[in-house]
Amino acid sequence: MIKEGLRLAPYACKSSKSKGRAIKEKPSTARTEFQRDRDRIIHSAAFRRLEYKTQVFVNHEGDLFRTRLTHTLEVAQIARTAASRLEINQDLTESIAYAHDLGHTPFGHAGQDTLNDCMKKHGGFEHNLQSLRIVDFLEEQYPKFDGLNLTWETREGILKHCSRKDAKKLQDLGKRFLEGGQPSLEAQLVNIADTIAYSTHDIDDGLRVQYLNEDRLVDQVKIYSKYFEEVSGEYPELDARRRQKEIVRRIIGYMVDDLVFNSKENIEKFSPSSVDEVRSLAEPLIVFSVEAKRQVDELRNFLSQDLYHHYKVMRVVGKSARLISKLFETFVESPVLLPPNYQSKIERFGLHRTVSDYIAGMTDRYAAIEYARVIDPTFEV
Ligand code: MG
Repeated sequence: MIKEGLRLAPYACKSSKSKGRAIKEKPSTARTEFQRDRDRIIHSAAFRRLEYKTQVFVNHEGDLFRTRLTHTLEVAQIARTAASRLEINQDLTESIAYAHDLGHTPFGHAGQDTLNDCMKKHGGFEHNLQSLRIVDFLEEQYPKFDGLNLTWETREGILKHCSRKDAKKLQDLGKRFLEGGQPSLEAQLVNIADTIAYSTHDIDDGLRVQYLNEDRLVDQVKIYSKYFEEVSGEYPELDARRRQKEIVRRIIGYMVDDLVFNSKENIEKFSPSSVDEVRSLAEPLIVFSVEAKRQVDELRNFLSQDLYHHYKVMRVVGKSARLISKLFETFVESPVLLPPNYQSKIERFGLHRTVSDYIAGMTDRYAAIEYARVIDPTFEV
């Protein structure tokens, strides 16, 4: 079995000590188990679809906005660098990061909320659980199993949050949501890298499209105003877009440094000697300092108000919610309209879950095309 050529602390996850895969496989002679997980995710159909799924801005609104795919790459980049500084497993970190948004519906959170409403009486819909469904059941790539047959550790990291009801169904993987405890440090790290990535790239996208007003950012977000002063002082002649990019870059640097230093302090304090000891702790160790957390929360609240609830974003939200619920209703009423490979899943997963899987897997543009095909041929997003 190949071992990691990485510098790993005792509390890091190690491929050689993995709890394994649901279906036993022969170890690879070229890659570690977590590298195989990462590569399987990159080669999955769900990963490729991230390219055409909304992060905040619908894909066709412009070529420069983040999509779920570029967001995912930014999360992986931030997490991987921080993982190496913390001497935890970079390959596992990367594999969790690449998988973390696989279960998102088309049209971002509007899609997820609508699908959850549609599925209310049928077990609900949650993108995080859907990511797990994709890697456990829905990918059809391998002769011997459904899904990607990933290691327990990657699956643990994908399951970021989970209700008690759902946790009971997940047996060993759901245990920490019932009995308390934490996931691995690699999983904890990706969770925060996600926040760092979106809260900073959304400033950049929001300013470019002018939904965000820089004066308001300076006025209301302390971390932004701090680096605004700093960068403007150093480069008084810089044009606005470059200045904004430099500010965003420095905010990422600040957040990552704070996270690494503060987490190192926590790790020293608790000095876990294994990943199982990490898992048994009451609190996560990979966290921001109190001050940085305040700054990040202030920024997130600002983005929620000024960007995610901007009227132009809300218009698309409303429209996509109607599109998703109409598609759901139509396919449930007439399952014969589903493509045959989905019709054949109804017996195994039930009608509603199958329709939900089909819709959740759609990209923004595919959902719009399907809407035009089965409901309204004159429809355009
Ligand atoms: Mg994300």
